[in-house]
Amino acid sequence: MGTSDGHVVGTTKIVDHGSPAVRWNVAIVAEGYTSGQLAQFHADADAFVHTLSTTPPFDELWCGINVFRIDVASNQSGADDPTACGGSGATAATYFDARFCGDGVTQRLLVVDDSIVHTVVNAQLPQAHVILVMVNSTEYGGSGGGVATFSLAPGASDIGIHETGHTAFGFADEYDYYSDCSEAGHDHHPAGEPAQPNVTLDANRATNKWRDLVAASTAMPTMSNPDCAHCDRRASPVPAGTVGAFEGAHYYRCGAYRPEHNCKMRELGQPFCAVCRRTIRQTLGRFAACCTSWTFGDNTLAAGQSQRWWLWWPGYPGFEVIGVQPGTPGAELRFETPGMQLNPDGSATYFLTVSNVGAATVRYAFRGKAV
Ligand SMILES: [Zn+2]
Ligand SMILES: [Zn+2]
Repeated sequence: MGTSDGHVVGTTKIVDHGSPAVRWNVAIVAEGYTSGQLAQFHADADAFVHTLSTTPPFDELWCGINVFRIDVASNQSGADDPTACGGSGATAATYFDARFCGDGVTQRLLVVDDSIVHTVVNAQLPQAHVILVMVNSTEYGGSGGGVATFSLAPGASDIGIHETGHTAFGFADEYDYYSDCSEAGHDHHPAGEPAQPNVTLDANRATNKWRDLVAASTAMPTMSNPDCAHCDRRASPVPAGTVGAFEGAHYYRCGAYRPEHNCKMRELGQPFCAVCRRTIRQTLGRFAACCTSWTFGDNTLAAGQSQRWWLWWPGYPGFEVIGVQPGTPGAELRFETPGMQLNPDGSATYFLTVSNVGAATVRYAFRGKAV
């Protein structure tokens, strides 16, 4: 049970956008990996980072984000899976004592000993803004309290980003059930406006808390549940991405509203809704003043190879390439810019050679900015 069941190995910066003093720092902590499995943790952390970096709005804020991997070896692999929630009864001697069924009734609720996590992260990375504990189990689970947890079930990275929504940005769940759509006591949301930015009891156009994002042509409420005894699974009456007030949220089928028909806080695999995206931008904006740049393309380059590029822009100078950004953590690339050419029609062409001097294939993109 706990710290006698393993040891802390160390910390590695796997996404480096500058000093931790000025960036938003994500700590990814290994749990339930043995010493021999830490290479797998490195690959799992890289996969999460790739998903995070391509998930709006984290993609546009990426230059403001550092990611650190904290390697912790456990004596045994996996997590406890109590039979009380229908689990296998497996137990594992792990450093942070991860277990499913964290509340005694909900198997997917994957929890760890938060105080041990905080002790380790305070020692390894005191500048961490959000702590994600990656649990080496393929069973579905996660939670988003003081630290976010997620397992390696299919869609693991998306689970991790959903749980980050709770832990880092204070989002509520936007779904309309707790255990299932026929449970008692979840027909009407109790009185009292939720504090979270992405759910509300107020569908009034004049007072709703995200009213500035609601078009005058959008009905309020936008969608009401005609049968509070059941979840409303009808299609949206408005195009995807429309902000309004959709009934069914925060574990209740009626009385609580969400901003869009769908959102990553409602269903995995979906994009964040506009209200959630705005909160993320507001929270990370001060770390990402560097992000007035754009990223172009997603390319791969084999070891020892070079690629020549030309980039065209309708105006001169219009833009400049300010870097070549490896999407593969730790990768090393060289680039040269032989020149920028003014064309007779007033457009500009920029020439660039990118070389992979490392030993492995690297994904990369250009970073540039308007001038
Ligand atoms: Zn959730
Ligand atoms: Zn949302």
